[in-house]
Amino acid sequence: MDIAKLVDDYLVKNVENRVTEPHGVSCSGLDKCNRKIIYGLLRAIPSVPDPKFLKVLENGNAVHKRIQGYLRGMGILEGNFICQDCGAITKGISITHCSECKSFYLNYEETSIMKNGLSGRPDAIINKDGERYIGEIKSTKDRYFYSSPPWHYLYGRQIQAYMLMTGIKKAFLIYENKDNQAWKIIPIEYNPKEIKSIQLKIDTLRDYIKRKILPIRIPQNCKYCNYKTICDSNKTFEDIQKETKITFEEFNKNI
Ligand code: SF4
Ligand SMILES: [Zn+2]
Repeated sequence: MDIAKLVDDYLVKNVENRVTEPHGVSCSGLDKCNRKIIYGLLRAIPSVPDPKFLKVLENGNAVHKRIQGYLRGMGILEGNFICQDCGAITKGISITHCSECKSFYLNYEETSIMKNGLSGRPDAIINKDGERYIGEIKSTKDRYFYSSPPWHYLYGRQIQAYMLMTGIKKAFLIYENKDNQAWKIIPIEYNPKEIKSIQLKIDTLRDYIKRKILPIRIPQNCKYCNYKTICDSNKTFEDIQKETKITFEEFNKNI
């Protein structure tokens, strides 16, 4: 039995079977090329992901869960808590038992938001004595953790998008070193200039959708792009839309 291959097949199958909900521009993907974002909005089928990459993502999710667990235990984690016994969702801050069946077995679920053409799930909404913050959790290898900071800019825009959607104007990045669990906490203030640039990007994307055209190719990490095959093909916006039967009703709401 080749257990490694079986695990890889299982991971890929899980991704292929995942049902994607209507979504806007992902807050974490705002810096991607416009063409790639439009493929995502059209729900074009991306190439099969590399199982190794999926394992890296799963590892990141496990870090999120652990840190969310600390915040929940401290009584400051706001959001949806799903009952493992009856499935009911109880909203609130560090909820301890289900509002329906009183079970103590609750799982925290990141709040999924779609607004202003954007969609995303902040890793944590922290509510300390009524003061609310966006908490974004990232983990990285030792050599990046101590190097000069490209991360500050990269993750800064994502957090600004969460601020735009939630109206919460304070945030911080919890940045963890994967090798030794050291932390850096980076406070992030609301930045009207960055917000404006996000809104402009959304307007540009709306325009492509209205005109039913794909943005021109601006090669940017194309080698690793999961839409490279479709991007290299001759498929037009309308060809893809016919295949996926996607409408942009959700995206165009709440401008
Ligand atoms: S292959 Fe390159 S140009 Fe095409 S969508 Fe991907 S990143 Fe953009
Ligand atoms: Zn319950």
